[in-house]
Amino acid sequence: MDDYCKNYSVALYATDSEQDRLLFSRARCGMWSCEYCASVNRKQWFKRMAEGLKAIGDVDGWAFWTLTHDLDNAPYIEQRRTLSNAWNKLIGHIKYRSDHEIYYIRAIEIGARATRRMHMHVLINFVPDDIVRIDRVDGTHYHKSEFWFSRAEKTGFGRIADITDVSGTYTYKEPEIALGSDLETTRAVLTASYIAKYMTKTDADTESRFPPRTRRFNTSRNFPKLADEEGFTRHEWSRGEKMNEGIASNAWRHKMHVYDLQREENITIDNFDDSGQYID
Ligand SMILES: [Zn+2]
Repeated sequence: MDDYCKNYSVALYATDSEQDRLLFSRARCGMWSCEYCASVNRKQWFKRMAEGLKAIGDVDGWAFWTLTHDLDNAPYIEQRRTLSNAWNKLIGHIKYRSDHEIYYIRAIEIGARATRRMHMHVLINFVPDDIVRIDRVDGTHYHKSEFWFSRAEKTGFGRIADITDVSGTYTYKEPEIALGSDLETTRAVLTASYIAKYMTKTDADTESRFPPRTRRFNTSRNFPKLADEEGFTRHEWSRGEKMNEGIASNAWRHKMHVYDLQREENITIDNFDDSGQYID
């Protein structure tokens, strides 16, 4: 596990006048395919979801919807478009039928089975009142709402769906509940964990199937946002090119040290290769 992003393309620089240092930091690439960034993304998303759910508070319960499509052998870009169009229509119906404000978080996933079908998981504060459990002959089961199954199909989703009320029963758990948490926090964390389990880094094969610019995780626009808590406030940061010998030499000429914030050490001439590139 890397302890910083190795895929960075943007560097951040600041001057620490007290210690005469040029501070160098890497901007994260933020991609889910990057091991380091995936772990940071996951933590940030989880925090945002749990705090958001807590802020939203008690709202008629939460349901976990799994939605697919019926396309066969369609390119992923088309699968994504189909899911996204169907969702835009379905959420319109849901809002129309709901007597309260609707919040949701959704995740796009590519199935692990042979079909590798793209599908969607949605955590939403809309629990249909006609959910029934259907037991399959193979011992597995799913939850069905006759009304919303037919709505989902009409808006372009596939025949297979699942709508589970997750307000009261916590079948999926993550060991991330801090000791001494109050009931609301515990409830928010457990509810968030339904989506969070899809936030682990997928294998490289699956990752490469996501079309460029696929937003794998998404929330409704009204979903509470975290207050900006970047710890970068002590210094004025500016964006620049990647660290190289020219940048370091210029700082050295001004009697400054050049400090790598991720490696937590001063950069020396030995850290550059023959072409002046920083050895990362
Ligand atoms: Zn990264």
